[in-house]
Parts: sequence; structure tokens; C-alpha cells
Amino acid sequence: VIAADGHASGIRQALGIERSGRGQLQTMRSILFRAPIPDDLAAKVAANRERGIVQYSIEQPAFTGFLARGLGDDSWLLMFPDDRDRDEDALQDAARTAIGIGALDATIIATGRWDASALIADRFAQGRVFLAGDAAHTLPPSRGGYGANTGIEDVHNLAWKLAAVLSGASRPALLDTYDAERRPVAWLRHDQIFARPDYAAFADTTTDTPILDDVAIELGQLYRSAALCDNGAVLPAALRPDQWAGQPGTRAPHMWLTRRGHHLSTLDLFGHGWALLTDDENWREASELAAKTTGISLEYLPIGTDLLTTETQQFRTAFGLAELGASLIRPDGYIAWRSVDLPADPAAALTSALRHAAAASRTAGPEGKGATR
Ligand SMILES: Cc1cc2nc3c(=O)[nH]c(=O)nc-3n(C[C@H](O)[C@H](O)[C@H](O)COP(=O)(O)OP(=O)(O)OC[C@H]3O[C@@H](n4cnc5c(N)ncnc54)[C@H](O)[C@@H]3O)c2cc1C
Repeated sequence: VIAADGHASGIRQALGIERSGRGQLQTMRSILFRAPIPDDLAAKVAANRERGIVQYSIEQPAFTGFLARGLGDDSWLLMFPDDRDRDEDALQDAARTAIGIGALDATIIATGRWDASALIADRFAQGRVFLAGDAAHTLPPSRGGYGANTGIEDVHNLAWKLAAVLSGASRPALLDTYDAERRPVAWLRHDQIFARPDYAAFADTTTDTPILDDVAIELGQLYRSAALCDNGAVLPAALRPDQWAGQPGTRAPHMWLTRRGHHLSTLDLFGHGWALLTDDENWREASELAAKTTGISLEYLPIGTDLLTTETQQFRTAFGLAELGASLIRPDGYIAWRSVDLPADPAAALTSALRHAAAASRTAGPEGKGATR
């Protein structure tokens, strides 16, 4: 079961899984309304939109909130802290105050209140149940968009593992890596939200968390789990993608390539299954053998023959490989293992890494007595 039943998750509660974090911050109100505004103000709003500005922080002595302009019409979304019930007149008053026009003709389309909270489940999995999205982590809206995005990444991490275990290719132990890999990411985002000015007022004053780049948090997080062959290297929890160099546990980097005349990114190569990326032909036979032995299907992706680049050195630098190295990429595009150079027995090294990283069910060769699939 994937419990994606939102922040009040009945499934999480039924399992008795508690949550930790900064907790309930404040009750917020959202009002979606329509209001024509005077031409001079409309011209300023349109000019702002041209510059990519569609959201406004409202800071008045007696009113603070967040206002966003609707797309292509005269609608607005207003959000502000609010712990009381409001009738239609009071809602219209709030809209007028936010826009700053006392005679504004505001039509309320919808309104509701919701709790801004920061709570992370103490376990993301229990038995055959996996928490995902707000059921696993509720984070307050922030400019980094860590709510829905974090939930989408949860299932991106989980789906291929479930498919692999259900097909019999991988052992259920692979699913243990879901909590190990995703819960630290939720905590990283939790702590980053309170390190930023928007939520500084709610921060625990004893913490002194350095603020990371948004792109580091969204695309540069490091996964750690029993399935990742990382040699125990001490690395930061997140860096910008261009600051990584192909370390296991990081997202495989983007680089432009050409295949049969088509321009494509390295990222287009991943997401279908396990893949081995290398610019050394020695790995071709090794990858066939590793796939056969483990029962895990593995695509061999040779740079320089099928996949062309004029920047072979740039490829090696981005993936942290020497001339004869190879990088093993998981179905979710994360690097599971790499061999910086050519090992003495590439087939044995790759087979061992793939067996470990995929928690392969097959424990001996296809003809071996230990085959368990
Ligand atoms: C004002 C606001 C602004 C936000 N802005 C952003 C943003 O800009 N970027 C961003 O990334 N995130 C944003 N978020 C957060 C984002 O909305 C949530 O993180 C996201 O919706 C969580 O998705 P979810 O599927 O986990 O849960 P939900 O969206 O809560 O969906 C859970 C669903 O499960 C259903 N459900 C519950 N129980 C059961 C049951 N027993 N049986 C069947 N169905 C059930 C519910 O009805 C609901 O439809 C914002 C949130 C708020 C409140």
C-alpha cells in the first residue's frame, strides 16, 4: 500500500506512526477572488508579469499576506494568517486591504483555511505500507516549492523499487532503502525552510543551519542507504549539481550527447531500467555477464560509439571517472556505484555492485544452483 492520503493521513495514524518537527505554525486563510483594478495599476501589474513577477508580499502595519495574480484574467489569490471565521463582507474587506483600494469591487470565488505545519513522520514505511507525500512530510509553502515536489520525488524513488520487488528481480530488502533515502531529504527541506527569512520567525533559535541553494535542495541531494556503494565517503547532504562529480548517491549529471543524429541529454538515457555508462569498450562484456548472472536487466550505454560527444573529458569529469571507468545508474537516474578505473576483473566487480545495489534475488548464475527467482 502506498499511503498518499495527505497530511492528516488516516493510514499513518492507524499505524501509530508519530511525527516530529516544528509542528503547527499557524492557521492560514486562502481567498480566490476576482477584482478589476484601475488601468494604471493594471499596467504596472502587466509590466511586472513581463518581468516574471506574479507574486507579491503584502506588508502593511495591520495586515501581512501573500498575493498572487491569476493568469490571463482579473483573478487573485490572497493568503494570510487568520484564526477566525469570516463572512462575505469580511472576505471582501481583506481583498480590498491587500490590494490597497477601498472601493475595490471584489467577487469571492472560493475561500478556506488550512494549517501551515512542518511535521515529518518518524518512519516512512511499516511492513507493506509506504507513506508518500504529505502523509510522510508536511512542509509549509515556501519559495522553493518543497511540498508537492518532495512528494513526487518520494514516489519516483519508490515506484521502481516496488516494481523490481513485485517482479521478483529484487529482494524486499530493496524497499528498506525508501525510508533510508527519503526521510533525510524531508528533514533537509524542513531545516532549510526554517533557515530562510520567510520562516525565520518560527525557527528554533538554537539552530544555525547554513542556507543552501534551491537547486542544491531540489536536484543535488545525496542519498545514503545500504543499497548504495559509496565506500562510506563523508559528503555534504546536498550540493548544486555542478558541484558533484558522479559520487554514488547523487543524481547522474546532465551532459549533451548525440545519438544517430539526435541531440539528447544523458538524463534522457535514464529512467527505463539499470544502465552502465562508460567510454571504455572493456565494459560491454562485463555488463552482459553481470545482467545474466544477477537476472537484473542492464543497458550498456557506450559513450564514443553509440552515444557521441566531442567532450569526452567533460563526460569523465562530470561522472568522476578516469579513462577506463564506468558508472552504474539506477532506474531513478541516481548513481548506484562507479568504478573510477578499470578493475582487474570488471565483470566480477560490476556483478557484485549490481547484485548489491539492486538487492538481486538471484544469488548465483542463471544455471547456478543458488538461483532463487
Ligand atoms: C496554500 C498552499 C500552497 C502550496 N504551494 C505549493 C507549491 O507552490 N509547490 C509545492 O510543491 N507544493 C505546494 N504546496 C504543498 C502541496 O499542495 C502538497 O504538498 C501536496 O498537495 C501534497 O500532495 P499529496 O498527494 O501528498 O496530498 P494531498 O494533496 O493532500 O492529497 C491527498 C488526497 O488523499 C485523499 N484521501 C485522504 N484520505 C483518503 C481515503 N481514506 N481514501 C481515499 N482518498 C483519501 C484526499 O482527499 C486528497 O485528495 C502548497 C500547499 C498549500 C496548502
